[in-house]
Amino acid sequence: MMSAEILSVGTELLLGDIINTDAAYISRRLAELGIPLYRQSVVGDNSQRLRDALCNALNRADIVILTGGLGPTCDDITKNVAADVFCLPLINDPDTVRDLECYFADVGRPMTENNLSQALIPKDSVVLKNHHGTAPGIILTGKIGDNDANRTVILLPGPPHELIPMFEEYVTPYLEKLSDRRLFSLNLHLFGIGESAVEAELRHIMESSQNPTVAPYACEAEVRIRITASAGSRDECILLCRDMAEKIRRTKVGNCIFAESTSDEISSDVLVRRIIDELRIRGLTLGTAESCTAGMISSRIADIPGSSDVLAGGIVSYTNDVKSNVLGVPHDILERHGAVSEECAAAMADGARIRLGCDIAVSVTGIAGPGGGTPETPIGTVCFGISDVGGTESETVRFGTMSDRGRIRRMATATALMKVLRRIQK
Ligand code: ATP
Ligand code: MG
Repeated sequence: MMSAEILSVGTELLLGDIINTDAAYISRRLAELGIPLYRQSVVGDNSQRLRDALCNALNRADIVILTGGLGPTCDDITKNVAADVFCLPLINDPDTVRDLECYFADVGRPMTENNLSQALIPKDSVVLKNHHGTAPGIILTGKIGDNDANRTVILLPGPPHELIPMFEEYVTPYLEKLSDRRLFSLNLHLFGIGESAVEAELRHIMESSQNPTVAPYACEAEVRIRITASAGSRDECILLCRDMAEKIRRTKVGNCIFAESTSDEISSDVLVRRIIDELRIRGLTLGTAESCTAGMISSRIADIPGSSDVLAGGIVSYTNDVKSNVLGVPHDILERHGAVSEECAAAMADGARIRLGCDIAVSVTGIAGPGGGTPETPIGTVCFGISDVGGTESETVRFGTMSDRGRIRRMATATALMKVLRRIQK
């Protein structure tokens, strides 16, 4: 069976300056296409090491996908090395020259001489147009060394906003023709249960089902169950996954499931999209009063297009003065119970709902550390309030003194969002 490898090029990846999101993206796509991927590697901007890595990959895999190093500068070596490995000369491609001229006319910048190097294409290769940048992608096919079978190398630009559209438009259809299997994953998102509890409950299903496979994994603030099916078509895969999802919904973990997503959707904020949809259906608006999260909740909501239909506003009430002056939290509560208390959280939520004129308000007040903890209120203590016409509720959650500031704030944000969803669905 045909297999693929990913080889990412870039010294900045090796230095840890950037994260290899291109490889993660391509891996997901290959999985959906049913093309086995056995290895990913990263190599710096060095011709000899890139050449070695590419030759090694071509000895193992039928298709090698390279990312990065296609730019016009002298550290961009990927194309030259690949052409060299296939023993192909570089030839000026008039179509690409025209595309480059259009690109520079569009952005209103002059084209420099070195940009023209991007129009040099290995002989007889396929050019993939770049609608978001200058470097075209390239597909090279041929025999290498004493290998009998054809090998394919796909060169893609490094910047994700160039690579992803190019992959969708040209590489996916190209690879689809090569593969007769499809893989599809459906994710179930759970809140309020740990990974091991999910695993214990689903063990019999996980062990007895080969297709689809079922695997739980823990993410920050939620657990996911990934259901993956393999079949001749995407539709068959979807049916297999849906059946399994129904089976899981009937188990004890069923009531912890708050959303489903496909692998296309997984990278966007599934929880927030769910909240926005539910609010919109009911014609409700949301407001926030945030102390230790200082805007993270409203920011996560605003990240999703269309949030303006439902997000009324948010108040960052970091100090006690702002809690009382802006949100109207009574001095008495702050003095007697402190800012990190269920009483304060409830008053913050009420205050936000009234002052922002929204239907539902959520509040967060807590100790994110590293300072500020006391024996009664240790680091990681966060109080939540939620207020709507039905009344106001508050609750304290402890994220643990071992958690760092960032994690406590992210967990608090996720918990607040989850409370919003639960309250809307009630
Ligand atoms: P350019 O024409 O912009 O130079 P390129 O194809 O030469 O594109 P690189 O120079 O390798 O690509 O990388 C350019 C930028 O693209 C990097 O600084 C980084 O922001 C992003 N990038 C590169 N490789 C990756 C990767 N594997 N994952 C995520 N982002 C990447
Ligand atoms: Mg570059």
